[in-house]
Amino acid sequence: MSDEWNAIHGDGRDVARQDRTYEAVLASEARFRAVFEHSAVGIALIDTDGRIIATNAAMQQFLGYSSEELLNRQLYQLVPDDDANGLAAAMAAISSGASPELAIEQRYTRRDGEIVWAALTMSRAHSATSGKSLGVIAMVQDIRTRKSLEERLTHQASHDPLTDLPNRTLFRQRVEMALQRAAHRDRVVVMFLDVDNFKAVNDSAGHSAGDQLLVVAAARLLNATRGSDTVARFGGDEFAILLENVRDDEEARIVADRITRAMRQPIPIGNEMVTVGISTGIARPHSDSDGADEVLRNADVAMYSAKGSGKNRYQFFEPSMHTAVVDRIGLETDLRHAVAVPASEFVLHYQPLVQLDTDTVVGVEALVRWNHPRRGELQPADFITVAEETGLIVPLGRWVLHEACTQAFAWWHGLPDEHHMSVAVNVSGKQIQDATFVSDVAAALADSRLPPERLVLEITETVIMHRTEMMVQRLQELKELGVHLAIDDFGTGYSSLSYLQQFPIDIIKIDKAFIEGMERDAAGAALTRTIIGLGGTLGLSTIAEGIEHASQRVTLEDLGCVMGQGFLFARPSIAAGVGENVSKPNKAPEKK
Ligand code: C2E
Ligand code: MG
Ligand code: MG
Repeated sequence: MSDEWNAIHGDGRDVARQDRTYEAVLASEARFRAVFEHSAVGIALIDTDGRIIATNAAMQQFLGYSSEELLNRQLYQLVPDDDANGLAAAMAAISSGASPELAIEQRYTRRDGEIVWAALTMSRAHSATSGKSLGVIAMVQDIRTRKSLEERLTHQASHDPLTDLPNRTLFRQRVEMALQRAAHRDRVVVMFLDVDNFKAVNDSAGHSAGDQLLVVAAARLLNATRGSDTVARFGGDEFAILLENVRDDEEARIVADRITRAMRQPIPIGNEMVTVGISTGIARPHSDSDGADEVLRNADVAMYSAKGSGKNRYQFFEPSMHTAVVDRIGLETDLRHAVAVPASEFVLHYQPLVQLDTDTVVGVEALVRWNHPRRGELQPADFITVAEETGLIVPLGRWVLHEACTQAFAWWHGLPDEHHMSVAVNVSGKQIQDATFVSDVAAALADSRLPPERLVLEITETVIMHRTEMMVQRLQELKELGVHLAIDDFGTGYSSLSYLQQFPIDIIKIDKAFIEGMERDAAGAALTRTIIGLGGTLGLSTIAEGIEHASQRVTLEDLGCVMGQGFLFARPSIAAGVGENVSKPNKAPEKK
């Protein structure tokens, strides 16, 4: 060390900053050297040319270099390239006296290449006697632990703890950035996804099962996309995906197809297999004014539309979907009026239920239609959800029950094979939860004189899974009336043997998605076979829904399915109960 530097050691003012006691301690050079050498803080003395002229052990250890290796190096050579210019300039400013002292957080490149964070304090050293600048004293404190904690916190703030996927905030930022840097903004595609029937799994199998399901869902979404895409979880069962540089809708469609297929695969949870699905809305910016928020909202609207049209599918956003939201409000008002006098606007269509080996009709399913005064004939998909959400399904369902029982009695009463014929009525979860439901059913049977064993109540699987305690009790009460119970759309929910056994069920209706998937690949056929086998084991009848092709009927018969329903046999119509295969009715169907 030069004499002048020694003079500083002797003075110590610039190092220790004006502490009188400390000054006294530093009055001895030997003592100063001890402090310098043994300080836990890394210290480097740097001359006016920026060269390191001395370092202590802590500094050497922090950087991974020996004292000799550091000698005569420039400090800025020890930091990542991006930071070098800034550091050199800051040091020159301090050395010249232009700026007094500087405390910053600075990255260093260790000898082994590792980049580490440190708090760097630089202050000017000058001669106590002449006041001339001697250079800079740099003090370096290892802040790796704090930095990594900070990084973890930042990560936590922007990621979902369960799946470790980016959260909504980070996702929105990424969409915004993608829109800013895209040469063609319409190549940015946002998907909004919602797991179908998640709530049912969560409610019936418990939260940890729900969590497991979400983790699997996240992995499948990552698997179905590229590394450069962003998959995010928005909370609950909502996910979002950002795709950049998507040439056309077809390319987005391929990804959406892959996701839909992947999510249809059963998920092992505990000892059970759970089958869910996913509804996806797809949107891209339509105009230059569409920012991240608009695109996200449109994808959300499209997702709702996908849910509304039967779930387990994807839909591209269309501006008319916004109109649909407005439409809904009008629909609700109209529905309220129509339900007040149900017979004037509602009609039941009936679809035959066929015994596959003999082609004989063994019953019908009642399906409601709404002859809307302005919109024409509406299908259940157009209004059942609104009816359920508003509670209007309770009075509407009561009318459907009465109407179907009355019609069935009128068609078949006194026929020789009367006892074979059943009428199935769909009931929604809202109806079953309603306190009057059991007495409504009893009243419909009494008023129509239809024997109870001829009435089948169809309840969708997802409804049965909700509120298990109450559901088991309600179903038990219905069974005591003598009616039969069917699980509708089986396979779309939490399909587990153990839970099926809890319910007094007679019939399983296999969802048409399985019938469709059955001929596609071996896995699809295996699923259908499993369901039919499951029905057999539990002593239940299985009915296949949505049979459209003769080949499906053949396959189903091979798999041991006895009964079916579908366009192959007949579409729902007003007169299904008097089809050719039914013995002559004693009364023509009455047109409402
Ligand atoms: P669901 O009970 O599963 O009824 C079967 C649906 O599949 C009917 O649709 C029927 O027309 C259709 N379908 C039958 N065969 C085929 C086929 O071969 N191919 C295809 N692609 N479809 C076929 P719909 O009438 O539109 O009814 C839809 C859903 O609305 C019903 O599904 C049921 O859950 C509900 N629904 C209908 N009527 C009522 C009702 O009175 N009350 C309640 N709560 N829900 C009802
Ligand atoms: Mg049904
Ligand atoms: Mg069904």
